[in-house]
Amino acid sequence: MRTMHADTIIEARWVLPIVPQGVVLEDHALVLREGRIALVAPTAEVRADWTADDVVSLPNGLVMPGLVNLHSHAAMNLVRGLGADLPLMDWLTTKIWPAEGKLMSPEFVEEGSWLAGLEMASGGVTTTSDHYFFPDSAAKGLRRAGLRCAVSAFTIGFPSAWAKTDEEYLERALDILETYKSGGMVRATVAPHAPYTVSDATLARCAELSEKYDAPIHMHVHETAGEVADSIRDHGVRPLERLQRLGLVNDRLISVHSVHLNDADIAMLAAAGASTCHCPCSNLKLASGFSPIAKLLAAGVNVGIGTDGAASNDKLDMLGETRLAAMLAKAVAGDTTSATVHEMLYAATMGGAKALHWDAEIGSLEPGKAADVIAVDLSGVEALPVQDPAAQLLYAAGREAVTHTWVAGELIATQKQSRSFRGNISAESLQSVARKWQNML
Ligand SMILES: [Zn+2]
Repeated sequence: MRTMHADTIIEARWVLPIVPQGVVLEDHALVLREGRIALVAPTAEVRADWTADDVVSLPNGLVMPGLVNLHSHAAMNLVRGLGADLPLMDWLTTKIWPAEGKLMSPEFVEEGSWLAGLEMASGGVTTTSDHYFFPDSAAKGLRRAGLRCAVSAFTIGFPSAWAKTDEEYLERALDILETYKSGGMVRATVAPHAPYTVSDATLARCAELSEKYDAPIHMHVHETAGEVADSIRDHGVRPLERLQRLGLVNDRLISVHSVHLNDADIAMLAAAGASTCHCPCSNLKLASGFSPIAKLLAAGVNVGIGTDGAASNDKLDMLGETRLAAMLAKAVAGDTTSATVHEMLYAATMGGAKALHWDAEIGSLEPGKAADVIAVDLSGVEALPVQDPAAQLLYAAGREAVTHTWVAGELIATQKQSRSFRGNISAESLQSVARKWQNML
């Protein structure tokens, strides 16, 4: 066979392709060409057939698709740390909203999104679905960091620096949908803030826009018990039922949070083919409650993972978020066999990609898909010995173990581990101690 030439070859100890689910390939390589995955094959075969401008060899590395952060407010990185431990309404009314009111501008959103993009990139996020004012500025900042993104054709029922009236929000939403309708590295979602902040008339318009542009509906839904109770008081029905009547519950809906769901709500989401986005850190920090993830998965609802904004988290750490999601799901269900390692890693990648209707391009390592790839080093003392690479990636390695992040074949972030220990212990000697005991099993 004649030798072929690639842009990048990544040789890895383990490859977790996500599709097919549950598979970990050993000593495989990825061939990247023109921003796409050309091949996933045993390293020996790739070496025989291919050369590349760049060969990245990762003898202790696990390679997987980039993480898809299904819900962020990236620019809120610039209000991180405000008002820790305040009651929710005090936190919003005395800290977050005044700070946003004072700072809000295209420059604030672009620079905050850029910093958030850098944080996400170094932690293995390659795509984020953002939800914020000045979405075109968010796109600029996130692209400057190298991320792929979906930005929000945003509406909320009160005036801001972005728009003053419902009509103005909808005009601007239309502009955003037009700007990004052709796809590429930035797409748009229809993003009414939440059922309790948007009127019936505007929600009905959002349903039409979503259908016309075939754009996902990115919305906070059933986040708190109070939201559900208020909807019953004000509209006579639970928020999801109101959204269904207005035409928003379908396979384009990304129901963010979905904390307070009864069995009928779950059945409605499943029947509609809707997705949920689970943001466990935000739900814990804001004392919102516990999403019934095991029940959603069992019902066949597509689940993705999101960090929410840095003000309510305060990390944009998708690996950490997914670890917490897995553990909480088991505890809430009282069942250790629910929310398995591979189900949760799928949620953090393909789950998000599917919710965004972007799964033909991203979310798994399959030939033809975009080369959105990350590498995680499993030789750190935290992850040794490596008995089960996928489980240790989720449960033991943190975002600090992410060493490389590629988006569309471009290396957008690297982290080199340089540690020293008492007695000048080398990484190799740590591994040999771990291997000694691993081999006795
Ligand atoms: Zn949010």
